[in-house]
Amino acid sequence: MGIFAKIAAGEIPSYKCAENDEFYAFLDINPLVKGHTLVIPRREVDYIFDMEDDELARFEVFAKKVAVAIKAAFPCVKVGQAVLGLEVPHAHIHLIPMQSEKDMNFANPKLSLSAEEMKEIADKIYKEFSK
Ligand code: AMP
Repeated sequence: MGIFAKIAAGEIPSYKCAENDEFYAFLDINPLVKGHTLVIPRREVDYIFDMEDDELARFEVFAKKVAVAIKAAFPCVKVGQAVLGLEVPHAHIHLIPMQSEKDMNFANPKLSLSAEEMKEIADKIYKEFSK
């Protein structure tokens, strides 16, 4: 099992932001901004555009709900969405609360947050998602 499948299965710890039977959302460990979240399918699939239409549609609808929760927890202009997948071969959507387009630059230095701060951020998003 790959690292993200293990995270979704709870075998590797993560800062949980949202979940349902099929999908899981957790904080990116090297965030561009506070609230930078990854959304993944629990099942192992590398390339997002290899997903069947129905699954991809449900994935995006789940990501939308997570984005709404992120925006409520971390007021921003909009939540940006990006798909790279160059590092981890398990489909994932980056959701990033943006104040400006600069926040979407993956070449920016990453934030270094304490475990306590990461948990606080994730809990805030989870609370909004669960409303
Ligand atoms: P990419 O595959 O290019 O979208 O990059 C993978 C992303 O996953 C990067 O932003 C990493 O910081 C993030 N990442 C890698 N391992 C973990 C992990 N164990 N927990 C949370 N985020 C991770």
